[in-house]
Parts: sequence; C-alpha cells; structure tokens
Amino acid sequence: MDILLEPLLGLLIGAVCVACSARVLSSTRYVCPACGKTFRSRWWKAFLAFHVGDDIALRCLHCGKKSVCYPSHDQSGEG
Ligand SMILES: [Zn+2]
Repeated sequence: MDILLEPLLGLLIGAVCVACSARVLSSTRYVCPACGKTFRSRWWKAFLAFHVGDDIALRCLHCGKKSVCYPSHDQSGEG
C-alpha cells in the first residue's frame, strides 16, 4: 500500500468537489434583501462566504450592503 496514494486521492476528491461547487456558485444569482436586486458573485467569494443553509453572507454589488443573500431561481433580469 502506497502511503502517498491516500492523501493524494483525498486531495483529488477535494479538488473535484471545489470545482463542482465553483460551477454551481458561479452560475447562481443571489438576491439582496436590502435592495431586492439580484447579482452574481465571484464563485470563490461565495465559496468562502459564511453559509446559512443555501443563504450566503455576501456584499451586494448594487447597494454595497453586506447581508445574508438567498439564491434566486429567476434567470431573467439584470445580472
Ligand atoms: Zn443591495
């Protein structure tokens, strides 16, 4: 049993998980509860942000207020 294989495999699985999350996060729009507008955040910002279920603490690109934003399923409108 190669002792290097297991940590490498774990690292690979972790990288795949991050890549999958990045794809989802980069395509998700979030609704700002302060101004009601939707915006798209950088995936790494959303990835590193504080999560409350599906909601994420992000800074709004429109009003600049940092609040817990929830994902929008509406694909129309400004981005
Ligand atoms: Zn806002």
